[in-house]
Amino acid sequence: MADSEQTEKRVAIVTGASRGIGRAIAQRLAHEGRHVVLVSRSLDALQSLADEINASGGSASAAAADVGDASSLTSCIEGVAQEFGRLDILVNNAGITRDNLILRLSDEDLMDVLRVNLVSAFVACRAAARPMMKGKFGRIVNIASTSGLVGNAGQTNYAAAKSGLVGLTRSLARELGAKGVTANVVAPGFIETDMTASLGDEIKSKVLASLCVRRLGVAEDIAEAVAFVTSDGSGYLTGQVITVDGGMTMA
Ligand code: NAP
Repeated sequence: MADSEQTEKRVAIVTGASRGIGRAIAQRLAHEGRHVVLVSRSLDALQSLADEINASGGSASAAAADVGDASSLTSCIEGVAQEFGRLDILVNNAGITRDNLILRLSDEDLMDVLRVNLVSAFVACRAAARPMMKGKFGRIVNIASTSGLVGNAGQTNYAAAKSGLVGLTRSLARELGAKGVTANVVAPGFIETDMTASLGDEIKSKVLASLCVRRLGVAEDIAEAVAFVTSDGSGYLTGQVITVDGGMTMA
């Protein structure tokens, strides 16, 4: 990529871009003309997605990082801002579940889920704030979950982390709004990805019955919402939770 092109395009970081929702978000943002930096622990998967995007006329690069490791994530984000001379869009999408009823939930499963889903978003937003403020433009999107809005038995750790993202995002929106930086949450309902693949047919049928739209969600449904909140025209949309769940919760 030519140097001039690197500085002209808006630069987006998407964590958890190797598969599922993050992959669809990355593809969609590339389609919108962003240079997308793909982040996860799986460099090979990221590189093959970057190759696919670049081959189809988009612009992407891969950067391996464990978002649960604050110093590796900080260097990754600072490195991107330095390399491209800008950082415009940050989508904190990487996430894990370690479901169990509270009496059986270990400290490790609590702390891992909080670190990967919540602390990582704080760390990434902190690292992204300076280059975004400098550029007087920023779009931060934290991918939460309907579990964090209405709760879900067996997911106290995950719901606490996702709910924490809402407070983080709204505080950021208040801190950074005057600098042209918006911060919003996109909260998916049930989306068919690796994360939900192991759930049985009975659970899927129950979910399906609760949906206004009578179909399970796909990753592209979330990418659509992220494309909207990260667009240049969405500067007046901040501090919001956009629930994309087929009408499951209406939260
Ligand atoms: P997924 O298919 O399991 O993908 C998870 C992604 O996160 C992968 O790209 C994975 O990459 C990355 N990741 C996990 N741990 C990481 C770490 N320590 N460092 C860096 N990357 C890490 O999940 P998904 O369904 O697409 O979920 C994406 C987001 O949407 C998550 O935040 C999830 O909580 C949220 N969400 C999903 C649903 C749903 O129904 N699927 C519903 C509500 C919310 P590597 O393994 O390559 O590192």
